[in-house]
Amino acid sequence: MNRPSYRVTELLGDGIGDELSEAVHRLADSLPVRLEFIPVDLRVENRRARGKAIYDEAVEKILDAKVGLKHPTATTEESPNAVLRRRLDLSVIHRPVYTIPGVPTNFRRELDLDIVRIATGGTYDDPGRMIGEDGAVSLRIVERRPVREAARYAFNLARKTGKRVTSASKYTIQKATDGLFEKVAKEVAGQFPEVPHNIELFDALLGKVIMAPEKFQIVLVLNEYGDFLSDMACGLAGSLGIGASANLAFDASAVVRVALFDAAHGTAPDIAGKNLANPTAIFLAFSLLLYQLGEIGLGQAVKNTTLDLLREGVRTPDLGGKESTRSFTEAVAKEVARRVEANAAPAPTDPTAG
Ligand code: NAD
Repeated sequence: MNRPSYRVTELLGDGIGDELSEAVHRLADSLPVRLEFIPVDLRVENRRARGKAIYDEAVEKILDAKVGLKHPTATTEESPNAVLRRRLDLSVIHRPVYTIPGVPTNFRRELDLDIVRIATGGTYDDPGRMIGEDGAVSLRIVERRPVREAARYAFNLARKTGKRVTSASKYTIQKATDGLFEKVAKEVAGQFPEVPHNIELFDALLGKVIMAPEKFQIVLVLNEYGDFLSDMACGLAGSLGIGASANLAFDASAVVRVALFDAAHGTAPDIAGKNLANPTAIFLAFSLLLYQLGEIGLGQAVKNTTLDLLREGVRTPDLGGKESTRSFTEAVAKEVARRVEANAAPAPTDPTAG
């Protein structure tokens, strides 16, 4: 059989990174496509040994394949995520966060948020400096271009899915920075008259998401607000281990030029090497990657199978289950293969026909 073949740059990480990589490869092997993973070693030892050269290699290989899958990396001297975002001009992060039925959570309501976050600037590009002994200052940066790209992405997503967009910031206090953000969001909203759009103050939004989550669908936010909101939403949904995201760079006509997919969680050093890591987030990231490759059916099969098994109680210990990383992966891989094969099989012939 002539299987479609794709190249994916895989950024190897720290802590549970190796176990997640093994899990993704097992899952990829169960699919009727050929995925050639091109590894780049972003483990902390190699970053320290090779310095800038390892990032040059990562950037070149990601640009070459156009899609990448990143495993979690320890933030040490630098944040690899921040370096890659800047070097690849990944201006937007799309992070879907939704409740998975049956997953133990303190939150009793259904949550289904698409968080679209500007991935650069805000307060994260400037570590700040001391002024004398008793004061410190840092710059907050908001730029029109990434806000416009994020807003266009959010409104396009809303147009395709029939959802509403909420932009949230502190525009009443941060008048210049957050004011510019809301101004650009409104300009883009004007180009999508059929998409409902409303504005919230970010602090109020946090409370409202908890009190009435059904009112929010796509939320457009600046960098640090998106960081806070994503972790809060993952917490409401039951585990830091189940969030995944797409990091996107665009060309001049707002078409995705490079897409880097990753799990929201970190390297989980407390459980590394113990076969306890939950691979759900990296599977959901992998599912978003399959969509980006145009393999929509396979992306859906990976996502739905993973969620269905969780719903049935096939879970790792962080979700109250007894499965190991490997046994959970095996269950997902086998079930994905079964579903894909069942879908590909010709419909049974009707013996009464003809
Ligand atoms: P963490 O996400 O690694 O861990 C927080 C808690 O969640 C831990 O108890 C951990 O065991 C659990 N957890 C996380 N992922 C899990 C999974 N897949 N399965 C089961 N349990 C999981 O956050 P942290 O401890 O604050 O950070 C550890 C390291 O990770 C730090 O060096 C940090 O800089 C780095 N980090 C990297 C990324 C990234 O590369 N994307 C993101 C966040 C943190």
